[in-house]
Amino acid sequence: MNNELVNIISNFRSFDWTRDLLDVIIIAVAFYELILFARKSRAGQLVKGVLLFLAFYAIAFYFRLRTVKWVLSNVMQIGFIAAVVLFQPELRRTLERLGQSTNWASKLLFTRKMEPTLRGQWQSAIVAICDAAEQLSDTRTGALMVLERKNNLEEIIHTGTQFNANVIPEVLGTIFYEGTPLHDGAVVIRDGQIVAAGCVLPLSNNLEMGKDMGTRHRAGLGMSENSDAIVVVVSEETGIISLAKNGVLIRRLDRQNLFSLLQEEIVPPEDGPDKEQGILQQLFGKGGTAVHGKQK
Ligand code: ATP
Ligand code: MG
Repeated sequence: MNNELVNIISNFRSFDWTRDLLDVIIIAVAFYELILFARKSRAGQLVKGVLLFLAFYAIAFYFRLRTVKWVLSNVMQIGFIAAVVLFQPELRRTLERLGQSTNWASKLLFTRKMEPTLRGQWQSAIVAICDAAEQLSDTRTGALMVLERKNNLEEIIHTGTQFNANVIPEVLGTIFYEGTPLHDGAVVIRDGQIVAAGCVLPLSNNLEMGKDMGTRHRAGLGMSENSDAIVVVVSEETGIISLAKNGVLIRRLDRQNLFSLLQEEIVPPEDGPDKEQGILQQLFGKGGTAVHGKQK
């Protein structure tokens, strides 16, 4: 025991503040991403299964249950290969995401500046978005609007039709009117201007999403998980207005709730750095139902 303590202390003494610190940070980030991956995908169930398995193994080990131990250790050997096969889609998607510009590493590299000079443009765009959302909700017209912030959404913009237009309710109403060529997919708004429509967004893997929510809501949530964009969703089926941010879907917003949230999240501050605020803090003060996909 004493020797172990001496070992630990000597390890601390030889701690290299650049190399070892970098080592620790890389492992910490890797574990963090792994936990996020496990929570968002079916792998969460796998983790629970593995923990249960290890608990059984520990019991078998403690009580010297030879046959159970033998079976479990054999299962463990093929378990790893089985997990890779079973979770191949999730693993592939995770690796693909590493190569996309929307992943966490490139979030740091491909960020845009929110210009305070765009305040006016964003202010009027937000009013128009709220008006449009209300009208689209009344007419049960499905809509998906992505509001770009610091993360560059060039890749998403390229999946749709690019054009420049002012954000006015009539334009948004025309785009999302069923039957028009661009009504399918999402509109991307950059610097208070429409820059593309008919864009394809990444779908969320969130298992907690209510069964009543289909691909439109899944796409909105997915976009907010993969970037810092704010996404406004209007349901065609129910007329419910939702807002997605950082992988959280806030449902049942009225015009006023939506306006306050967008105002706080989107309009660049007059001076100084953008304030980063926890969405939950804002949600519960502002009404609307906050869910991780699950409808309450
Ligand atoms: P609603 O409540 O409006 O019915 P929903 O969540 O039930 O929405 P669906 O009914 O499946 O979703 O909506 C399908 C529409 O969602 C498509 O016609 C398309 O416009 C849009 N959509 C689906 N997937 C994507 C995607 N990956 N990117 C952008 N838009 C998408
Ligand atoms: Mg639907």
